[in-house]
Amino acid sequence: MSPERFRQLPSVDQALRDPALAGLPRGLALRAARAVLTKLRRALVEDPDLIVPDVIAQIVAEARRQATPHLRRVINATGIVLHTNLGRAPLSTAAQAAINEVAGGYSNAELDLPSGKRGGRLDGVRGLLQALTGCQDAIVVNNNAAAVVLVLSALAQGREVIVSRGELVEIGGSFRVPEIMAASGARLREVGTTNRTRAADYARAIGGDTALLMRVHPSNFKIIGFTERPTTAELAGLGPPLVEDLGSGALIPGLGDEPVVGEVLRDGAALVCFSGDKLLGGPQAGIIAGQKGLVAACRAHPLYRALRVDKLTLAGLEATLRVVLGGNLEELPTVRMLKMDTGPAAKALAARIGALPAPWTVSLEPDVGFTGGGALPGEGLPTTVVALRGGDVEALATRLRLGAPPVVARVRRDALVLDPRTVLPGEDETLCVALRLALSAEMGQ
Ligand SMILES: *Cc1c(COP(=O)(O)O)cnc(C)c1O
Repeated sequence: MSPERFRQLPSVDQALRDPALAGLPRGLALRAARAVLTKLRRALVEDPDLIVPDVIAQIVAEARRQATPHLRRVINATGIVLHTNLGRAPLSTAAQAAINEVAGGYSNAELDLPSGKRGGRLDGVRGLLQALTGCQDAIVVNNNAAAVVLVLSALAQGREVIVSRGELVEIGGSFRVPEIMAASGARLREVGTTNRTRAADYARAIGGDTALLMRVHPSNFKIIGFTERPTTAELAGLGPPLVEDLGSGALIPGLGDEPVVGEVLRDGAALVCFSGDKLLGGPQAGIIAGQKGLVAACRAHPLYRALRVDKLTLAGLEATLRVVLGGNLEELPTVRMLKMDTGPAAKALAARIGALPAPWTVSLEPDVGFTGGGALPGEGLPTTVVALRGGDVEALATRLRLGAPPVVARVRRDALVLDPRTVLPGEDETLCVALRLALSAEMGQ
């Protein structure tokens, strides 16, 4: 490859002397220049006839990109409340304040203040979980996937776990029950069929090597029709400890049909695990709750130390649990959103948006949003959306995502729809400005 090809590119030093880059922090300009020039050299190797566009402008754009934090606040206009790609549950004011309080200073994360001795990391949340679920003991790990791995590793390594064929599910990403089981060193013993499994199927499979019976909440799908699934109580009486992965779970009744954690424990499950950032409305976490001896075995397993949560998560989780225990559920943004009548909010949003430049039109329409996060599958959230039509909706959706702040909307056939359910209080005005900017950028093209 001849250096001739690269002649149209400046050296890094030459580029850095350009006045357009002179005002940038040196380290940033250097990183951006190297990144752009490396990319362009590669492109020239592939296509020697490539006409290189303005190199300096590209370096400035790259520097701007590098200087922008990657993880940013975005406006969720999808109407999906627990949107995993958008960080699941937005936290309550109380949880935000609690996190902020411990984040900038020291805390008694592992110090018992009265004695001055080492204290337990979970002392703040254990009592709250006991009060809310009636569990004997509980621990918290990084997320519910980690909770399942820890439970299986601590209680069933090298032994059998009996699971219904209807519950060998994939939750998302690479979280598949049979694979998690294999990774934990437990042996999967499948019973029943995809649509029908009875307590007698479990009973027949129980043997000397059975460590656990396990039920997995089929979070993100629903089997309907000719189906049968034994209750918690039926399985709890069979002998081996029953573990239930509740997925989302709900601490209090009234949020759709999700199993209520305390009821499952009362019905006889020895151990349950569930997520902190699904219907609970807190930070990402996995909670393991149930019988003392089983929780203790999980805590004593070496993996627990690897999966434990940090002080920020604990602060946010404790504050969230206090809100639930206090009964002020409307303080949780997720609960507020799930119960919201979106009609008035959609009307207000449409009025604020007003008339848009041609060819765009704005209308109010009925639609369906979702809880998300694998909770309440098949249970849509009837809603009213603001629908924008007339132009290139995919291009508009992209511009909205690339705006500041980014806005994530839903595209439905020929319409871009904005569901007010997940647009938080105070975000409407910003959303309207972002929309105007995205539309004017589109016109300018
Ligand atoms: C969501 C879910 C998980 C994973 O929980 P994370 O907190 O996302 O790790 C595991 N099991 C079930 C049944 C779920 O619904």
